[in-house]
Amino acid sequence: MIIVLLGPPGAGKGTQGELLAARLGIPKIATGDLFRAAVRDGTPLGIEAKKYMDSGDLVPDSVILGVLRDAMASTETARGAILDGAVRTVPQAESLAAVLKSIDRKVDAVLLFDANHAELIRRLSSRTTCDICQTPFKGLEPGTACPRNDGGRLIRRKDDEPEAIQNRLNVYEELTAPVVAWYQTHGVPVESIDAIGDVTDVTMRAAEALRHVPRAD
Ligand code: ADP
Repeated sequence: MIIVLLGPPGAGKGTQGELLAARLGIPKIATGDLFRAAVRDGTPLGIEAKKYMDSGDLVPDSVILGVLRDAMASTETARGAILDGAVRTVPQAESLAAVLKSIDRKVDAVLLFDANHAELIRRLSSRTTCDICQTPFKGLEPGTACPRNDGGRLIRRKDDEPEAIQNRLNVYEELTAPVVAWYQTHGVPVESIDAIGDVTDVTMRAAEALRHVPRAD
């Protein structure tokens, strides 16, 4: 099953994607995590991505196409994948559809996580993130050791600074929100999930929404 997660920054796609991936036994592919790891390792992909990420702009579609192609060709995704933040523009949705079509697969469903503006800003500006596993935490100061004991330290992501947050929300409205309509007009079920409330409640809502989706594999 191939599931695309959509929703503004701070809606909880990463957290929910992780939990859904564990439930369904398929991997989560989070392009933001891949890029941050590449930045940390100083790879050519990371050097290119960093130019855009810190200010909250999107990495060019041409870069994403290569990442999506590699991810979907990997044996890891043979049984499916949860794509978190991997589709942020209509051209990216088109590229992913073409990549999948070439291997006789398709996106089975889109989960659209929805939260109001004030809540998104509150979540993004109050979180810290592990510089190794990239898990976000609430209420822990930068510099704290990661509670997952992986040797990482919690940092404030550069794109979680106030100016970058506003830019990410604007970029979402302008470039990513139209992706929802693109999927709807291309016959892919889009399930809206209320992303406000307990993490486990939101996971239950998402799992319930997926029960109605016909599976291709
Ligand atoms: P968020 O979704 O909360 O903004 P992510 O950690 O998913 O955060 O992504 C961080 C950054 O990585 C984005 O702001 C963007 O610069 C880059 N990025 C990740 N995925 C994509 C994508 N599919 N297209 C363009 N840029 C991307």
